[in-house]
Amino acid sequence: GRDTSKAANSDELEDSIDYGKVTQLISTFMIKNQVNLLETLANQLAVELLTTFTECRNVTVEIRKPNAPIPVTFQDVAIKVTRGWHTAYIATGSNMGDREGNIENAILNLGADTKFKIIKTSNYYETKPYGEENQDNFLNGMVKLKTCCTPYELLDRLKVEERRAGRVKTSKWGPRPLDLDIIYYDDIIIDDENLTIPHGDMV
Ligand code: AMP
Repeated sequence: GRDTSKAANSDELEDSIDYGKVTQLISTFMIKNQVNLLETLANQLAVELLTTFTECRNVTVEIRKPNAPIPVTFQDVAIKVTRGWHTAYIATGSNMGDREGNIENAILNLGADTKFKIIKTSNYYETKPYGEENQDNFLNGMVKLKTCCTPYELLDRLKVEERRAGRVKTSKWGPRPLDLDIIYYDDIIIDDENLTIPHGDMV
């Protein structure tokens, strides 16, 4: 799924996707990646296509397997997966060590990851701690980004950055070198034991 009007108007190949390159990517990918489940394959392939052909807003991969080990007569087993680029707002915070450096570093790491595109970063604001008031002030900011991660993949990815910055499990309101919270992810609403979007502080 992409905006085809540019190519339609210009009739120039560079405004379109090179389907030869798409075919090449799929074939190389299938040889390189041996996985057990069609679901895994479809998801990984969709993300690989999205991060390579970034002008695509979304990609649908359909895989058909004609010889699946099922003891009944059937034509084929098929799976269809759609993955796309999403807009997320991430709140950043730090009140330990090089606060600005910790936040900037995480943004750089995410920006270098093909699954992310940093769109905009805010200024930083000095804020007083709450919950546990006997700790240093926080530096807080906001990042607008595009990602082809699902909300749960995004949460896991942000936790990697928090750990990289030296974060260890402490009390809910305790001091931390880096805190990354998903405030919005498109207009999605999630509320389960691992994830609340929009983030609790926003509602
Ligand atoms: P905190 O210590 O305040 O950063 O909370 C960490 C936990 O909050 C994570 O392990 C998440 O499972 C959970 N959580 C729930 N909603 C969100 C969200 N929107 N963004 C980040 N973490 C979240």
